Amino acid sequence: MKIGLFFGSFNPVHIGHLIIANFMATQSDLDRVWLVVSPQNPLKPKKSLARDHDRLHLVRLGIENNPKLRASDVEFNLPQPSYTIDTLTFLKEKHPEHEFVLIMGGDNLATLHLWKNYEQILANYEIYVYNRPNYDLGELAGHGRVTAFEVPPLDISATYIRECIKNGKSVRYLVPEAVWEYLETGSLYR
Ligand code: ATP
Repeated sequence: MKIGLFFGSFNPVHIGHLIIANFMATQSDLDRVWLVVSPQNPLKPKKSLARDHDRLHLVRLGIENNPKLRASDVEFNLPQPSYTIDTLTFLKEKHPEHEFVLIMGGDNLATLHLWKNYEQILANYEIYVYNRPNYDLGELAGHGRVTAFEVPPLDISATYIRECIKNGKSVRYLVPEAVWEYLETGSLYR
């Protein structure tokens, strides 16, 4: 299968993430999209970053019943910090039957040249990039392995959602219903 990898901290997952994941899973040639949850750096725990398994659980709740989407915890067991090239190499070895494609926003593509072994990434993997408002895709937009997609932009972030929760404001409809219910009843981000 051709699988798109969408990396993030998903702290928490929100509909902005899911719109991208679903778009790529249904309007490109990808068969599936995996949402790869980045682990906390054990050496630099961040107070605002929920624990790995909580964020993974929320992603699972958010994509429930969508057979094209999957949550991946592959980076939880890889050496820290996890660089994308290392995760890609690991996945390729573990799943030789699949072809992996990187999904990223135009903001990330513009700075891809600063990533570890970015030439190796471009030499071995396709990148599907979606537009981010106010960001130019940069020089790599014309690269043969880069394909650009126009996805309707949604200007929300996990930071905004965490702020709302902290201030007792509703995040209903900004996150999937099951995620909202979970956040309403628990103590995450309060
Ligand atoms: P935070 O506000 O905590 O930085 P975030 O909402 O940007 O989080 P990440 O987990 O960093 O979420 O996101 C994973 C990927 O999704 C990143 O590459 C990020 O640029 C992208 N992304 C986040 N929000 C949106 C959105 N509303 N539309 C499209 N892409 C998004």
